[in-house]
Amino acid sequence: MPLNHLPTAELQALDAAHHLHPFTDGDALNAKGARIITGAKGVFLTDSEGQEILDGMAGLWCVNIGYGRRELAEAAARQMQELPFYNTFFQTSHVPAIELAARLAELCPGDLNHAFFNGSGSDSNDTNLRMVRHYWAAKGKPGKTVVISRWNGYHGSTMGGGSLGGMKGIHKQGGLPIPDITHINQPDWWSEGGDMTPEDFGLMRAQELEAKILDLGEDRVAAFIAEPVQGAGGVIVPPATYWPEIQRICDRYEILLIADEVITGFGRTGKWFGSQTMGIRPDIMTLAKGLSSGYIPIGASMVSDEVARTINSADEFAHGYTYSGHPVAAAVALENLRILDEEGIVERAGSEIAPYLAEAWESLGDHPMVGETRIAGLMGSLAMTPDRERRAKFAAKEGTVGLICRERCFANNLVMRHVGDRMIISPPLVISHGEIDLLAERARRALDETFEEVK
Ligand code: PLP
Repeated sequence: MPLNHLPTAELQALDAAHHLHPFTDGDALNAKGARIITGAKGVFLTDSEGQEILDGMAGLWCVNIGYGRRELAEAAARQMQELPFYNTFFQTSHVPAIELAARLAELCPGDLNHAFFNGSGSDSNDTNLRMVRHYWAAKGKPGKTVVISRWNGYHGSTMGGGSLGGMKGIHKQGGLPIPDITHINQPDWWSEGGDMTPEDFGLMRAQELEAKILDLGEDRVAAFIAEPVQGAGGVIVPPATYWPEIQRICDRYEILLIADEVITGFGRTGKWFGSQTMGIRPDIMTLAKGLSSGYIPIGASMVSDEVARTINSADEFAHGYTYSGHPVAAAVALENLRILDEEGIVERAGSEIAPYLAEAWESLGDHPMVGETRIAGLMGSLAMTPDRERRAKFAAKEGTVGLICRERCFANNLVMRHVGDRMIISPPLVISHGEIDLLAERARRALDETFEEVK
């Protein structure tokens, strides 16, 4: 029986009774009740109380195309009637998976011409972890098993993805990281750069990769994985010196470079891929989220000609998911890519929306509680601080002020996320200039109210 007619309190009670939420303190949530989202159009959500909320996060960084595109629903319905499921194991294939793989090969930079399909970002990174080890074994170097990642990076929350990520909260639970994954420091100048210039700091942090490789021995290291711009870690845009040095080191020591583009893919940084924005040449790219604009779960590992050739000529890669290349998910992703391309959404995001958003976002930098604003295309963050000059932290436990601000955003019908005491945005790429003005106005009001509460 559909429950749409139930009052909010009854829905909240059922939710509390039966629904365990991801990344949520259950008791805290159940004490106040979940906010229940009932619909969405463009960049706005509607909740069960009839409020219209501006979604400054595009869901979870994923609804690039905006909400309510009928064409994606129709693509799913058509595909469900024609072929709702078939697998891609055991020497079979189907048209949507073939077409999507070929389309991704056209869109992705360099010779990333081959797609291994997965169900999400996390399990795409699990695929990558297994694949790079299989790759080096096939090349006669089975000792190359270590993957180097970064503290405060995020690569999902499966055993593999959570281990590759460098989130202490995830590592604290369940025995992570699994063996042969090791971390270096992140290029977060605001929090960790001290008296160094951003450029010197970026170089220093990149060179930690070289030191780690030399420490472990080149013959032990399979790959380095990183997000072109860290998302869940707080939208950390690296200094300009960082990525060229990382690329040099990967080339020099023959380390596979995995760009985790789960957030940065499909227009988020103003180009199709964050690797293009950062000028890097990955051997493998992790895709999910914007691939279907979040309308249906799907992920992919895009790999270079050399990686694909090696995997294909080795013993069977004993890996795959029932839903690898799911035909309905592939059909929805194809329709999403068609619209992003034909309507010029990615192109306009880079040329028109990103500069306007940057100006609006950076204008918040004059607020007494804002230390710095950062933005890369359509992903931005601002650091809240009691003292901008000293880049100081609040006396209260880290994240307390961030949480207050997030609640003030909700109260002002704006979704912004907080990471510690940093506020984050990542709106749908289709956001208009007027909607950006509204976002900035509501964000300022939320900052004012937070300031009143904590000063
Ligand atoms: N990689 C990155 C960079 C992400 O931001 C995320 C999710 O936010 C993931 C991987 C995990 O993706 P999923 O939640 O689809 O498993």
